Amino acid sequence: MNYQKRFVVEPGAKVRLGKIDPAFKGKHESKDKAAPEIQKHVERMAKAQYMLYADGNRSLLVVLQALDAGGKDGVVRHVFTAMNPQGTSVSSFKQPSAMEAAHDFLWRAHLPTPVKGEVVIFNRSHYEDVLVVRVHQLVPKAVWSKRYDLINDFEKILTDNGTRVLKFYLHISPAEQLARFAQRLDDPLRQWKISEADYSERKLWPDYIEAYEDAMERTSTKHAPWYVIPSDHKWFRNLAISEILADALEDMELKLPPTRVDIAEIRRKYHTAAARQGRQGHTPPKEK
Ligand code: ATP
Ligand code: MG
Repeated sequence: MNYQKRFVVEPGAKVRLGKIDPAFKGKHESKDKAAPEIQKHVERMAKAQYMLYADGNRSLLVVLQALDAGGKDGVVRHVFTAMNPQGTSVSSFKQPSAMEAAHDFLWRAHLPTPVKGEVVIFNRSHYEDVLVVRVHQLVPKAVWSKRYDLINDFEKILTDNGTRVLKFYLHISPAEQLARFAQRLDDPLRQWKISEADYSERKLWPDYIEAYEDAMERTSTKHAPWYVIPSDHKWFRNLAISEILADALEDMELKLPPTRVDIAEIRRKYHTAAARQGRQGHTPPKEK
């Protein structure tokens, strides 16, 4: 399936989340049926990550945004599993610290962006500054409304420097969110995750949807696109995101660097019978 094409927010297009079914499942009926395909994409991602590292000129920034219990952590755990931890990191955006709040809103986002060869995942992101900040009027409209253009400029700086920026909104229904909260209540291992705020934020659902729609309309660009991922079914979410990431990485046409030595010469020098003979003839100095 071409989920890149199906779920992308075309630059300038209107976003109507109410018209997108969060329970969409595509061609598979169940998690078990989808598992082999997810595995295939996850392995493609791992191979592509190796190429990204070897190529050394490009990088990938993945932005994950969702309402509470939308599944950001699940994507980090299930989609990026096969990637090499040496070239991957996750940055979580919580309420700004005093130091962060004393800077411009992009300051804390710029620092953890990926260096060449690396993959970075933003678990929440600089978009919180036009989402929660807008919904709760933490700054005046005159301030947040200018941020869309600033975000576009920021992401242009990153892409001009070789970073592919891909942004995912995990789209769940209010009923699915409530069901996930209830599961947390029943699971002693996850009860610590529940807060009153989860329930009070739910009341602001329409405001969040409006803020998300505006954000995606104004910041989905050719160089840094948004994807709306139906996420009521966790396995479908993982399938769609892993496919989109694998396709996007493969489209980057990453290349292995040229070899730095004459391979035939190295073979002759160190790996022929004569060379091995020489090595066997070598007696190490006696230990004292
Ligand atoms: P979990 O799924 O574990 O709840 P989480 O990402 O929701 O993960 P929390 O610590 O519960 O993590 O919440 C972080 C909170 O910080 C969110 O409510 C988010 O909206 C808020 N936040 C993030 N960035 C900003 C910001 N710039 N200004 C104000 N609040 C912010
Ligand atoms: Mg939370």
